[in-house]
Amino acid sequence: MTEVFNQAVWKEKEKVLEPLIFEISVPERVGHILPKTCEKVTREVGDVLKTIPEKIKRKTSIGLPEVSEPQLTRHYLHLAQMNYAVDLGFYPLGSCTMKYNPKINEEIARMDKISRLHPYQDVSTVQGALELLYRLEKMLAEISGMARVTPQPSAGAHGEFTGLCIMRKYHEEKGELESRREIIVPDSAHGTNPASASMAGFNVVTIPSSTDGCVDLEALRGAAGEQTAGLILTNPNTLGIFEEDILTISDIIHNTGGLLYYDGANLNGVLNKVRPGDMGFDIVHFNLHKTFSTPHGGGGPGAGPVGVKDKLVPYLPVPTVEYDEERGVYYLDHNRPKSVGKVKGFFGNFGVIVKAYSYILSLGAEGLNEVAEVAVLNANYLAKKIEEIRGFSLPYASDKPRKHECVISAAQLKAETGVTALDVAKRILDFGIHAPVVYFPQIVEEALMIEPTETETKETLDRFVSIIKRISDEAYNSPEKVLNAPHHTSVGRVDEVKAARKPILSWKMYQKEV
Ligand SMILES: *Cc1c(COP(=O)(O)O)cnc(C)c1O
Repeated sequence: MTEVFNQAVWKEKEKVLEPLIFEISVPERVGHILPKTCEKVTREVGDVLKTIPEKIKRKTSIGLPEVSEPQLTRHYLHLAQMNYAVDLGFYPLGSCTMKYNPKINEEIARMDKISRLHPYQDVSTVQGALELLYRLEKMLAEISGMARVTPQPSAGAHGEFTGLCIMRKYHEEKGELESRREIIVPDSAHGTNPASASMAGFNVVTIPSSTDGCVDLEALRGAAGEQTAGLILTNPNTLGIFEEDILTISDIIHNTGGLLYYDGANLNGVLNKVRPGDMGFDIVHFNLHKTFSTPHGGGGPGAGPVGVKDKLVPYLPVPTVEYDEERGVYYLDHNRPKSVGKVKGFFGNFGVIVKAYSYILSLGAEGLNEVAEVAVLNANYLAKKIEEIRGFSLPYASDKPRKHECVISAAQLKAETGVTALDVAKRILDFGIHAPVVYFPQIVEEALMIEPTETETKETLDRFVSIIKRISDEAYNSPEKVLNAPHHTSVGRVDEVKAARKPILSWKMYQKEV
């Protein structure tokens, strides 16, 4: 291994790391020079403030940090340098689809004509934006095999919630909501699935996976009935395995009168190959910030559009974007009496929608096809190579190909050396690579969930394999090196239990704690 990785560390002598912006604050220090006109406005605002009655005025300072512009710039640049990003290196975080996001999409979303639009503008002045929404809807409907799509939800989980509200409404309209209280979710499901079902007011019924890592048909038959509102499934599932019995699964649920919800967060492995609509699904959400290339992590913004089959179209959120062929204009339709209502202000996260539109157009149907093929090739390449390394295995149907990701088990490594999946993940950081997801799905012991995506080269994958090999050698020969990792990052090993049990999430909490 020739490369050396050392993450930047900015710290002050007595501090562990870069001080907080509040700690470098000095009263009355300013970081701006306002033009005269602004000073006048400030004076005028001051005059208005004098008219506010004393009893409703804030008594204490709002406690904003007061720093100079260079202090501010350097502080955030220091933090950025101590961070990690997909633009810095490989990021095989399973289920999160951390693909490289082409800069052209950013550039287009930032164009003045797009970024300076105001959502309250009259529709006659935003015809281009409506056309873009209209066209993206058509593209996503085509990709998923659905009749119509709403762009409103702002994340995958938000899409799930919206989709489940639509499912609720469907059963309500049929007068069956009282009796259909249950949503079936496999035990390998993403955590948001049961959470969304519960938030939408349903009871969650978990069914086990079979020994080949797929839905256990007998368990599904046992769980499904007149009380079933629907099933939430992702296909390929979180093990990266394609559910070959999907048409049987679909029949089982539809025969009870329930609906099928497709968690389409990770479409990378099936883009332009199979469509959820053709597999029998009635509702689907997309994660534009995963499959359709918007930078994500750290909280967004994202977009989780939801597509539905014909019979569910009346329940979509308002407004929908429509095209009047006679007049040749796009317009908003608010008059949809059966709609579940609005789930987000205006039209969703428009910037993210623009990026997805640009991404799809730049690749075209053939490009999307290639995305799927290379994503699958990369995941299988890693699965096969890592499975051969001492201490690691590929549980569940190891003879079956994976799709967008693979889940490796470090159970043997743990049994033989005491080194856990968490330790391996921490040691990976020392090589300038982001760790895979660990301990998920829970049906795999000591799980390392690896999703390389299509944007990585064979050289990167080979380097990753050689690093895993090296970590395995270390585990068997000098485990301390792995057990105490990471050594080359800005932040060493953190206290995971304390971070989960006693998180300090704000300056106020910090002041109380320290
Ligand atoms: C990421 C993900 C979600 C949730 O998406 P968010 O945008 O994070 O809310 C749901 N299901 C699966 C399978 C995912 O990978």
